[in-house]
Amino acid sequence: MVSEQTEDAVQQGHGPGAVEQPVRRHDVSRLEPVPILGIIGVDRNGFDVAETYVRKRMRQLAIPENQIGEPNYGGYGTWRAFDPNGQLGGGCVTGVVVDSGVLNPELLNRKKGGRIYPELTVRERIDAAIAHEYAELRHGSHAEALKAAAGTELPIMPGARRLCRAMAG
Ligand SMILES: [Zn+2]
Repeated sequence: MVSEQTEDAVQQGHGPGAVEQPVRRHDVSRLEPVPILGIIGVDRNGFDVAETYVRKRMRQLAIPENQIGEPNYGGYGTWRAFDPNGQLGGGCVTGVVVDSGVLNPELLNRKKGGRIYPELTVRERIDAAIAHEYAELRHGSHAEALKAAAGTELPIMPGARRLCRAMAG
């Protein structure tokens, strides 16, 4: 999503875009420009696409409707299942939230699962984040969630299951 924005700015050559370009270039180098485009979408509505995908995926995995996302407690209380500002992979207070950390191949660097994380697709990382946060919601702690997600009953993708097991070490 980020790379396309940069291209727009270059092509249109308008002021604000040109100013922001160096910052975005920097971000792009830290993320994975190609594989994410398929599901995360592009430019101004990119995160709406992510929100839509994550909600749909949680429904497919049979997350209870009232736990598909939660109000943005730190902001205006807007309901969201995908937090574009979060960098941890996900979170849970009263519901399951996936965040932009899933775009970062280095998210689990020096942690269990860190070696396979860069090899997984964003869809697989999202599935793993959903399984982890859903487990954390029910078990109350990150440590318990790591253990529980390794044996999740959710029908997540095989790559996501591999990651959940690796994270439990
Ligand atoms: Zn956790």
